[in-house]
This record gives sequence, structure tokens and C-alpha cells, in this order.
Amino acid sequence: MKRTVVISLGILIALGAATISQTGPSEPGRAAAQDVEKFHRDALIWDCHNDLAYRVLYEGLDIGNRLPGGQVDIPRLREGGVDVQVVALFIQNYLYPDKSARQAFQLLEAMTRNIEKNAASVELARTGADIERIVASGKIAMPLAIEGGHAIEDRLDLLRTFHDRGVSSMTITHNISHGWADASAGKPRWNGLNDLGRKVIAEMNALGMVIDVSHVSDKTFFDVIETTKDPIIFSHSGCRAINPHRRNVSDDMLRALARNGGVIGIVFELTFLSQKYAKAAQELRAISRPILQKVPVIEDMDLRIAVEHISQGQDWPLEDKPTIEDLLDHIDHAVKIAGVDHVGLGADMYPRTPSPEGIRDAQDYMNITRGLKRRGYSHEDVKKIMGGNFLRIWKQVAR
Ligand SMILES: [Zn+2]
Repeated sequence: MKRTVVISLGILIALGAATISQTGPSEPGRAAAQDVEKFHRDALIWDCHNDLAYRVLYEGLDIGNRLPGGQVDIPRLREGGVDVQVVALFIQNYLYPDKSARQAFQLLEAMTRNIEKNAASVELARTGADIERIVASGKIAMPLAIEGGHAIEDRLDLLRTFHDRGVSSMTITHNISHGWADASAGKPRWNGLNDLGRKVIAEMNALGMVIDVSHVSDKTFFDVIETTKDPIIFSHSGCRAINPHRRNVSDDMLRALARNGGVIGIVFELTFLSQKYAKAAQELRAISRPILQKVPVIEDMDLRIAVEHISQGQDWPLEDKPTIEDLLDHIDHAVKIAGVDHVGLGADMYPRTPSPEGIRDAQDYMNITRGLKRRGYSHEDVKKIMGGNFLRIWKQVAR
């Protein structure tokens, strides 16, 4: 009896597959697709990290258009049913100590204007209440986040000014240790946070700014956890138990994050997802670096474009490119250690950087929902991971 059922099921699947290849999705397939589309229409979908502002300022692009070579813009967010896109204002590390605030203001200005230009479909959001109101009106909510505490040039008044101008979150460091906190990259200066760093954390608590600890050193993370009164976030990181990368988070940190009530946004960055891929990418970079240094003097246009292409990481001829299943593995692990109330998404899809197989751009967020459902997550748990958890943080913290 059992055997017959299995065989019949096999035939059904085969028939279903044949139907798909000839005439599109089968009935159950179509129902499942509609199910996920409905889920994305109803549930709040949130991505906690993207560098769109850079393209807006330096390439003069308009987020209302489908951006060339891009992965995130209003049309694509709509197609993916993404309701909240946190936009990072990434500040170059070499501009510290006295030119970083200038770049932050330029990015803030450009992004704010572009959001206003697209007021029919998107709105700047500061608080959780803003986000709920904007999303309920059918628009996309865009909270702004400074990426790199060096942006405030060691000044609390600048922190307050950025908050006044609509910035609701700040990553404590990028890849340098600055005047008050150590990063995970480069040399430590303070063994975590110094006194000014503790004042910055207290001021962010007082202002109602979301503290983001992606990029910080482990010691800085534990100092922040000890100092903050509010829950904190990793906007875009992965799990160190899967890939021991310095940008990823150890199980001890995940447990501390859960005790703090915080959330980790799992990043899509391939070298954070897979150790094997990171090693291959590093080897390729070592080969390409001497060539890339000659780029400005390469006169053969085709060769130059090809070399620039490689430098931007697209179509790297690397085997074992991580897939959406690797991304789901990081989500599973974070859920296992920290709990389902403490995990979200922080894609960091930047133009021309490759995403895991199965995610081309923002429209493919639905594939993550499908993957989570396939792995047995309940409806309520998928809602939390896809956006509910980050909404909780903004409602609790951002003012
Ligand atoms: Zn980053």
C-alpha cells in the first residue's frame, strides 16, 4: 500500500514537473506562489541594510527607476513585496577624522531629496509608528542609518544633529577603530569602547537611536551590551559557527544579543556566508590586484571593462558559489542559538556584488519566504524573521 502511494506520488510529481515545463506552474505550484505573494502583501517585509544612498549621490540615480545593474530600487522592492528598506549612509574610513561628517551630510541630503522626489511611493521613516503608518498607506518606508561611528568625528553634537535630520540608527564602526570604539578590522585602539564611546551609547539611548554593532570588534560588542539600556542590532552579519569570518557573530554573542532583546539581520554577502567561497575570492583578489593597479593605464577598452568587472566581483569564475540554502543555514543557526524572536534580514545587496544563487535582486525575497516555509517554519515565525522582529526594535527604541 505504502509502496503504491510512493509510486503514485512519484508519478504525480513527474506529471507536475512536465506541466511546469510545458505550460507554467501546475495548480498546486500556482497556489503556493499565490500563497507567498499574499504573504508578502500582508506581512511586513524588512531589509535592514543597503547602500542605495551611494548610487544616488555619486551616480545621480533616481530610486524611482529600475537602476541599471542594480538590485534594489522602488520597482524591485515593490516586486519583492519589501515594505521597509533601511538605507545606510556609508562613510569612507579614510575621511576620518575631519572630513567624514561632510560626506555623511552629503549622502543624507541626496537621499532625503530623492525620497521626497518619490513621495508617491516612498517615505523617510524615523520611528516604528512612522513605519506602520507609511506601510499601511501602501508606501515603502525608508529609515536612514549612518554606517560608521567615525561620521560624528568624536562629537556628540554631530550625533544629535544627524538624529534631528532623520537618521534613526548608527553602526558603531565600519572597518576602522576610531576615536571611541574598536572595529573588527584593523588594529584595536581602546580594547572595546572608551569613556567617550560609553557616552555615545548613553546619548543614543537618550535620543532613541538604534545601536548597530555589525563591524565592531567582539570586545566593543560586549562593552556596548553592558552599557546600553535598549536592545541593539546587527544590521548585516552572519554566523561564525558556519563561517569563522571576523564580520560574523559567535554563538556567545548571539546568546548575549538574545538576552539584550536585540536582532541580527542575516547578510547575503557571499564571503560571509561561505568560508570556501571567501578563500577562493581571496585567492582571485591576490591574482587580480596587480592587474587592477594598472587599470588606469590600460588603453584597450574591452580589457579595461573586463578587469573593472572582475574588480567589482561580478561573474567571478568561482566554483561553489553560495546559494539561498547557505543563507537559510545561517538563519537556521541564528534561530537555534538566539531564538526566532532575534533574527531578521540585512541583505547588503550592493550593485554589481553577486548575491547567493536563487536571489537576483529585491524581487526574490519571496524565495527566502518559500525557503523558510519549506524548512518548516510556522507562518508566525516567518513573519518575525521577514520583518516583525526589526519592527519590534524600531517601535521599542526609535524616537
Ligand atoms: Zn557594512
